Amino acid sequence: MSRPEPPLALLAELTHRCPLRCPYCSNPVELERASGELATGDWRRVFDSAADLGVLQVHFSGGEPTARRDLVDLVAHAAGLGLYGNLITSAVTLDGALVAALAEAGLEHVQISFQDSRSAGADRVAGFAGAFEKKRAAARRVRAAGLALTVNAVMARHNLDRVQEIIDLALDLDAARLEVACVQFYGWGFLNRAALQPTRDQVRQAGATVAAARERLAGTLAIDFVVPDYYARRPKACMGGWGRRFLNVTPGGRVLPCHAAEIIPGLEFDNVRDKDLAEIWRHGSAFERFRGTAWMPAPCRACERRDIDWGGCRCQAFLLTGEAANTDPACDLSPYHDALAGLATAESAAPAPPFVYRQMGRPAELRGN
Ligand code: SF4
Ligand code: SF4
Repeated sequence: MSRPEPPLALLAELTHRCPLRCPYCSNPVELERASGELATGDWRRVFDSAADLGVLQVHFSGGEPTARRDLVDLVAHAAGLGLYGNLITSAVTLDGALVAALAEAGLEHVQISFQDSRSAGADRVAGFAGAFEKKRAAARRVRAAGLALTVNAVMARHNLDRVQEIIDLALDLDAARLEVACVQFYGWGFLNRAALQPTRDQVRQAGATVAAARERLAGTLAIDFVVPDYYARRPKACMGGWGRRFLNVTPGGRVLPCHAAEIIPGLEFDNVRDKDLAEIWRHGSAFERFRGTAWMPAPCRACERRDIDWGGCRCQAFLLTGEAANTDPACDLSPYHDALAGLATAESAAPAPPFVYRQMGRPAELRGN
């Protein structure tokens, strides 16, 4: 196989610690404990290798990245290498001193997640009283420090009817970009799928609201709409193609083609404690397994879109069909597609079960499974 192009971006999952307990969290159900996290020097070496490899952007993520005491140091190190730094944060711990220090260290952009447009709903989903007001205050500090702001609004059946309020919130916070992101069902989100599943009508109405707002707010607020896969006709080009644009380093140093890839059995993930990042990107067996199109079975193999959507998402194919190489069932050419749409319709019509909140250690609801 020819040498792959350099990745565009590195998702640095600095920690799985987080004060929030979102039931849609895409982190794995088995979370990494603080004792297993990479040390500051390990992360510095990761960023050195990333810059050598040609990476342009680092997303400091988690969990909640501000739980790391060395966050400012790591941001400064990455900025010193010329890497564009984006902080992906729940923002409840983002106080004025930390925002100032991060701006001083060279951070360029902050993405803050909002669980709803109203405090009661947002705090219920986050499992954290007062989270919504803390987030709003942090967003204002980010803008006052001159950093660019994206509002990431995570939408599901309980809040998808309030997209207009979310748009108003993003405008009020002076965000440059709003992601209206319907929950993707991985990690804790997969576990809570029935509680989160929106109806097709909700999705359609939200799409219309976003389309109208895009036209009205062109030049003021950029709005992305992440449609739920279960109601799609064609799959997303997941990660821009496996091993093509992105790589992900877990808190413990494992290097993944995407944040959910560890659920796929049979893949072996190298660790930055043992191997250089560039070597892993170019030759790691997990990266090579689904890179390009040669691995594809029918119908993707002969499809004219195989270089556009790369057959969709390997993790979703595994979760929904038991085989990661299958066509993503979000594609209506997949033999599993109709069953998926039927499942989504049935789940969204049934009463929502209680959330299983994210936590360290196996939740009581799952013990014995
Ligand atoms: S989704 Fe929620 S629980 Fe998960 S890392 Fe983000 S803020 Fe924390
Ligand atoms: S068959 Fe495969 S390549 Fe073609 S549109 Fe569906 S997922 Fe994409």
